[in-house]
Amino acid sequence: MAYIEFRGICKSYDGVNQVLKSIDLDVEKGELVTLLGPSGCGKSTLLRSLAGLEDISSGQIILDGEDITNTPVQKRGIGMVFQQYSLFQNMNVEDNIAFGLKIAKMDKNEIDKKVKAAIEMVDLYGKEKSYPSQLSGGQQQRVAIARAIVMEPKVLLLDEPLSAIDAKLRRELQEKIKRVQKELKITTIFVTHDQDEAMIMSDKIHLMNQGVIEQSGKPVQLYTHPVSKFAAEFIGHYNILTPVDLTAFFPEKRYPGNYYAIRPETFMLSKEPIEDPAYLTFDAKVVDFISRGNVLRYTLQCKDVVFTSEVLFRSFALFEPGATVHVGIEEHNLLRLND
Ligand code: ADP
Ligand code: MG
Repeated sequence: MAYIEFRGICKSYDGVNQVLKSIDLDVEKGELVTLLGPSGCGKSTLLRSLAGLEDISSGQIILDGEDITNTPVQKRGIGMVFQQYSLFQNMNVEDNIAFGLKIAKMDKNEIDKKVKAAIEMVDLYGKEKSYPSQLSGGQQQRVAIARAIVMEPKVLLLDEPLSAIDAKLRRELQEKIKRVQKELKITTIFVTHDQDEAMIMSDKIHLMNQGVIEQSGKPVQLYTHPVSKFAAEFIGHYNILTPVDLTAFFPEKRYPGNYYAIRPETFMLSKEPIEDPAYLTFDAKVVDFISRGNVLRYTLQCKDVVFTSEVLFRSFALFEPGATVHVGIEEHNLLRLND
């Protein structure tokens, strides 16, 4: 039995529009899992239903063997951090973090000890007496995390906690959250709409789309084996091609199904004809290219089909717009999608 079990979770706000459509999801103890998906797909609603902040229309939520579907919020043992910094503005860092422990009437020495440990855990040593207005967004979010973990919740829920923080600092905080999570072995559900963030953070990703779990798996699994058009478009920058598109490349072949996905870096581009029998080959014209840091992204065209290919950027572009290139791909890199 998993540590957290969502069983057939349905939610609609007006009785018609189903926001969650019978979600089944297991989370193992000590895991950090991500709910990934575009804005509006139901991530926060699912998270809030576990916290008890949202009633569900039907279904069952089990935590640590106990049915908590109707348990009040404060009895669920869940800590939560939101995108907006939600600290008490009139309290300093220490008091913000100690707040819940004081409410729980814990012994003062014990509180001091726990608060100190939490402050060290999130690297806020020296900031104990600062007020939220004196802290950066990243520091405030670390206080919010400390305030949650100091309560030793059964589960930590993080709803887009880094979305308002700029890119560089975000990387650091991702690392920090991961480290704290592993140190405390605290079961954590992290919500994000950013696939890079999900790839970096997660033991496991649950990709959501319009109120259903579209695909679950380890980050690498989702990246290399998307099951649907939605998954292939959302994760990575797959080329999505129809069987008709593929016959432009390989006129002698027939492909069943509706969609195929090809990762841009799995095409081999060559000035010379490709002789290696491991590759299916065709010719294409270079439409354009851009450099994205250490990667060159070519837009190529074969008959009516426009697609992208990426190669490592080694100081100069091999192919100019208008040039013809020989393209090779191994058949196993044509991924057939379920849709
Ligand atoms: P996400 O967190 O993935 O962006 P949400 O869980 O916040 O998505 O929302 C899922 C859907 O539920 C959205 O279409 C949103 O408009 C709708 N929704 C959320 N809260 C309410 C509400 N209080 N009343 C009506 N609809 C809502
Ligand atoms: Mg949300």
